[in-house]
Amino acid sequence: MNYDDPAALAQHIADQERPLLLGLDVDGVLAAIVHHADQARLSAGVADSLAELAKHEQLHVAVVSGRSIDDLDRFNFDEGITLIGSHGIEIQGRPMEPLTVQEADRLAQLTSLCDRAMHRAGGGAWVETKPASVVLHVRQAESVAGADALTWLRPLAESVDGTEIKVGSAVLELFARSGNKGRAIHDLRTEVNALTAVFVGDDITDEDAFAVLGPSDVSIKVGNAATIANNRLRDTDAVRDWLQELSVRFG
Ligand SMILES: [Mg+2]
Repeated sequence: MNYDDPAALAQHIADQERPLLLGLDVDGVLAAIVHHADQARLSAGVADSLAELAKHEQLHVAVVSGRSIDDLDRFNFDEGITLIGSHGIEIQGRPMEPLTVQEADRLAQLTSLCDRAMHRAGGGAWVETKPASVVLHVRQAESVAGADALTWLRPLAESVDGTEIKVGSAVLELFARSGNKGRAIHDLRTEVNALTAVFVGDDITDEDAFAVLGPSDVSIKVGNAATIANNRLRDTDAVRDWLQELSVRFG
């Protein structure tokens, strides 16, 4: 696997046209993946680098996560950073459009299916509820039972009309309203008039964001999974180093 050198990639970005939008996923990018999402911490130094970057007039920094806005609170991101949660459904400081009766009904059905799947998966499995989606996590469950629960849940969720499903590693998220990181990045870049957009992500849902980027934008995949991104950083340590290099260049 070919990984980019963090300093060279930072320089390449510093050379692009401004204003620049910098969009970053959180888990697996700014914070190492941990067994339980509640235990995630930003890599050392990342909060400072981001705060430094957010001060720059020609640079708009946004965190775009699958986590809810409430949940993103735990990381204490600098207030100059735009927080986008629930895969683009929630934007900090703006009211989320309330669920329609139909969406609320869908969410209730999906939540009850998730609860049943959690019991199938046994100890360690848990269900997370968000404003417009519900998530089954089986990373900490016994692996065969966990995989079986995900396999059981998926077709049942698909049969609930209007549901959108996102598959992560040891995670299944069921949306009563569709979220898409690509749409969120597209809207935000228009809003801030960015001439260059950069997006960094590690998971399947980040591919939606890479897909809306153009030839003069910069897409960065973290890790070795298949991707449409043009650049790669090895791991969260490489992201930390790259942000440090970037903050020097925009300092
Ligand atoms: Mg991630």
